[in-house]
Amino acid sequence: MNWAIGRIEADFTRSADTHLIPLPVPALPDIAIYLKDESSHPTGSLKHRLARSLFLYGLCNGWICEGTPVIEASSGSTAVSEAYFAQMLGLRFIAVVPRSTAKPKIDAIQFYSGECHFVDAPGEMYAAAQALADDLGGHYIDQFTFAERATDWRANNNIAESIFAQMAREPHPVPRWIVCGAGTGGTSATIGRFARYNRHDTKVCVADPEGSVFHRHWADRSVTRLEHPSGCIEGIGRQRVEPSFLPDVVDRMEAVPDACSIAAAHEVSERLGRRCGGSTGTNVWVCAMIAAEMAARGEAGSIVSILCDDGVRYADTIFDDGWLEAKGLDVAEPRERISAFFDTGKF
Ligand SMILES: *Cc1c(COP(=O)(O)O)cnc(C)c1O
Repeated sequence: MNWAIGRIEADFTRSADTHLIPLPVPALPDIAIYLKDESSHPTGSLKHRLARSLFLYGLCNGWICEGTPVIEASSGSTAVSEAYFAQMLGLRFIAVVPRSTAKPKIDAIQFYSGECHFVDAPGEMYAAAQALADDLGGHYIDQFTFAERATDWRANNNIAESIFAQMAREPHPVPRWIVCGAGTGGTSATIGRFARYNRHDTKVCVADPEGSVFHRHWADRSVTRLEHPSGCIEGIGRQRVEPSFLPDVVDRMEAVPDACSIAAAHEVSERLGRRCGGSTGTNVWVCAMIAAEMAARGEAGSIVSILCDDGVRYADTIFDDGWLEAKGLDVAEPRERISAFFDTGKF
């Protein structure tokens, strides 16, 4: 175990922090938007931080030992990052993923020697992962339960500590809002707790797919499950309220139609000169909404959000016209709207 923790710490010591990128809106000179670029981690998404924390948590709890097969239920990104750490530690890793998962994510899991076990519907992942762990005498990591507690929210280079440190020399160093999505709910829990613990005047807004249960649960705690699928934005939006989603730490939630998320992902990709994933689009859509509201009230300040993963992973899905057409997603109208926001500051 000491050896394994040492390997992870050495990997961390070799790694650089991720960038905080300004996203300019020239029509709004008093409002600054930034994106925390989590796509620049070695495994390409914000799940790199989570996977590191989950492995350290599993090792220190005595749940992961030499030779323990490690199993996870994941829509892809977490499994990619966990496969990286499992390979580093010489452990067998099996990802239970929905069949609909983007092919480049499957390839990336396999690139790090991970195995994939497919299920037909996202709702089947949890039981299948537990059953595999029972059969193999392995450990089911269960990101959806443990994300919020495996991450040390007070500090230890969590995403929130990094954001506030990188904002230090900006005109408005304490963000009015931090906007993020919820998949496990771990990111919103960490940011919200960190901001409160440090008594920052920062509020947390979760940008949630229209089809997701999270915003419904936030508005009415008796809603905990949905029958219909939560949409096609990978990484965020769920049909069941995950244990790591902590609604009391979230100040505001906005529901975003998938077509708007995708339009915003296209727009921000063009503006930054590189592709961003769909959940980044969901975030940017809500940043535009909040920035326009602040401007209308004559407020100045900053908004920080997250560039969650690299859009190259979605070349065959949200960046493919045929795929969009087959899904019946018309992104032209929302694209005009988000594009006009960047030109005029109005939304
Ligand atoms: C997991 C994920 C999120 C949401 O983060 P959580 O901390 O799990 O709530 C957003 N975008 C992408 C691409 C993700 O993989």
